[in-house]
Amino acid sequence: MLNKIILHACCAVCATYPIALLKKEGYYPIIYFDNPNIYPYEEYKIRKNELIKYCKKYNLEYYQNDYANEKWENFVKGFENEPEKGLRCQKCFYFRLKNTANFAIDKKIKFFTTTLTVSPHKNTKDIFKIGEKVQNEFNNEIEFMKYNFKKQNGYLITINNAKFERFYRQDYCGCRYSIRN
Ligand code: SF4
Repeated sequence: MLNKIILHACCAVCATYPIALLKKEGYYPIIYFDNPNIYPYEEYKIRKNELIKYCKKYNLEYYQNDYANEKWENFVKGFENEPEKGLRCQKCFYFRLKNTANFAIDKKIKFFTTTLTVSPHKNTKDIFKIGEKVQNEFNNEIEFMKYNFKKQNGYLITINNAKFERFYRQDYCGCRYSIRN
């Protein structure tokens, strides 16, 4: 039987390659959209709906969390002026991975990981460290799988897939503070 894994997905663009790789490695990926960082809500809906469409097309199991943007904003308070790849992003990763871990616990699924490492704009070491921290907080009941999806041309494949699927492609990371970049 295939090992189930929760794949936290930030958007359809970043999800295609991680899904394919996890399948190749013998996993059954369950797609989980939990990104209350995305602003404004219209943008959130576009990214979410694009992922839902993709999951339907390829018959992938999909779940989502609520748009808890206010809660996320409170969590990153005081870090608004941090640059991208800075402390605000670390808090943002933690927020989303913690939610993902909770979802994995609810679903009784041991493994979880995230598409976030596919982006060259994100620090993979930070994401691994935070994934490990979350895993420890759950007393290793769940396991964060350290996939650096940007490796082996992962990012390039992701972009090519996005062109093939004619995905909407955003030009900023997600939160209101990243719009200025
Ligand atoms: S720039 Fe991206 S990763 Fe950093 S806080 Fe904003 S949405 Fe999160």
